[in-house]
Amino acid sequence: MKNDVIQNLLDALAISPDNIPLRMHVAALMLQDGLFDDAGKQYQQVLEKSYGNRDAKLGLAACYHATGKCSAAIVIYEQLSDELSLPDQVRYIKCLLHERSTAHAVELYQRVLALNPGFSDEELDAQLRMPAQNGFEFEDEDGLLPEDDAYFLQKPSVRFKDVGGMERVKREISMKIIEPLRNPDLYQAFGKKAGGGILLYGPPGCGKTFIAKATAGEIDAKFISIGLHDILDMWMGNSEKNLHEIFEIARRNAPCVLFIDEVDAMGASRNDMKGNALRHVINQFLSELDGVATNNEGVLVLAATNAPWNVDAAFRRPGRFDRVIFVAPPDTEARTQMLESMLHEKPVGRMDAQKVAAVTENYSGADLKAIIDIAIEQKLQDSLAKGAIQPIETADLLKAAKQHRATTLEWLASARNYALYANESGLYDDILQYLKVKK
Ligand code: ATP
Repeated sequence: MKNDVIQNLLDALAISPDNIPLRMHVAALMLQDGLFDDAGKQYQQVLEKSYGNRDAKLGLAACYHATGKCSAAIVIYEQLSDELSLPDQVRYIKCLLHERSTAHAVELYQRVLALNPGFSDEELDAQLRMPAQNGFEFEDEDGLLPEDDAYFLQKPSVRFKDVGGMERVKREISMKIIEPLRNPDLYQAFGKKAGGGILLYGPPGCGKTFIAKATAGEIDAKFISIGLHDILDMWMGNSEKNLHEIFEIARRNAPCVLFIDEVDAMGASRNDMKGNALRHVINQFLSELDGVATNNEGVLVLAATNAPWNVDAAFRRPGRFDRVIFVAPPDTEARTQMLESMLHEKPVGRMDAQKVAAVTENYSGADLKAIIDIAIEQKLQDSLAKGAIQPIETADLLKAAKQHRATTLEWLASARNYALYANESGLYDDILQYLKVKK
C-alpha cells in the first residue's frame, strides 16, 4: 500500500514527468517503505532520462539486492566500487555471498573492517567471522586449540611408487626434502640446511596434491593440506592468526608435510591496492616461511598453483620457494602405469593399457580417473542387466576417452603465452620444452 505522501508525489510527477529530483525523492520513499519493485521502476525511469545518474544506479542496486536479484546488483556495485558508501558496501558483500563469491566477499569485508574498526553486521559476522564450514570451535584468545590438530592432520599411506611418472619431481623432492631428513649429518657436513619449500605448478589434476601426499607417506610424516582460500575464509579478520596456527600445528606434529594449495591467491593481490587487507596475511605467510622467530625444523612446505605467473616474486627468494617445478601432464609411459594402477583390484578383462595411453595425450591423472569412472559406470549397468560381472576391457576405455576430453589443453594454451612473453629468468623453460616450442 502506497502511503498518501507517495501517492501525492506520484500525482505531481504525472504532471511533470521530467522532474528528476522529485522522481528520486519518490523512489527513495518507496525504498524506505519496502516497495522495492515500485522504487526500482522509478530509478529505471530516472536512468532513462539521466543516464549515468550514480544515485539512481545505487538505488536500483539496493532494490535488486532487496528482491534477491543479486547478480544484477553486483554489476552496478562493481562499476561503482571505488565510491561506495558503507551501507552500499555491505549490500555489495551480501550480494557476493548470495552468489557464492566468498573469497571476494571476505576480502571486501576485511577492507570494511580495517577502515571501520568498530563496525559489525549480524548477518555478515555470522557468515564470515565464524568458522562456518569447518566444524570446530575457535577460542577468541588462543586461536586454534591443540584438539583441533586432528581435524587438519592426515597420515597418508600413499608412497612415491603409487605416483605415476613425475620422475624429476620425485628426484627434486628427494634431494631437497627427504634426504636431508634421513641424513642430517651428511647435509650438515656440506653446509646444506634442510628447509625451504618447493612450489609445484602445472595444469589441474596432474598430481600436485597427490605427490605432496606421497611425500608425507614416503617419510612416514603427517600431512596437512590447506587451500589459501580456506585460511582467508575460515575466520574473518583473523587470517594471520589462522595461518600462524596452521604452521604451529605442523611444528607440534613434526615431521610434517604442510601442503598449501592456491598460493597464487595471495601473490596476485600483493601489489594491488584493493588487496590491502591481504598484505598482512602475505607478510605473515612469508615470515612463517622464513621461520623468523620460530623453528621450522621437520616442517616441510610444499605449495601448488595453477597460476604461477600470479605468484609474487618475493615467494621465490632463497629459503622460501626456491625450487619451482613444473608438473606436466603425464607422458605415455606414466599414463600406462597410472591406468594399470588405477585398474588394480577392479574386474578387468582383456586390457592393453598402452593402447589407451597412446590415445590420451595431454590427459591429466584426474582425466584418466574420469574415463575409468565412465567405463565402470557403463560396466555396472551391463552387469546388472546381465546378472553377472562384466569386466572392463580396452574398448571400454577407448570409448570412454571419446566421451571425456583432456582438461589440460586450456591451461597449456595460456601457459604457452606466459612462457613465450613473460619468461623472466627462464622460469617457464620447462613449459616450452614440454610444448616443444623453440625460444
Ligand atoms: P589441482 O590443480 O586441481 O588441485 P592437482 O594437480 O593437485 O590438481 P591432484 O588432485 O593431485 O591434482 O590429482 C587428482 C587425482 O588424479 C589424484 O587424486 C589422483 O587420483 C590422480 N592422479 C593425478 N596424477 C597422478 C599420478 N601421477 N599418478 C597417479 N594418480 C594421479
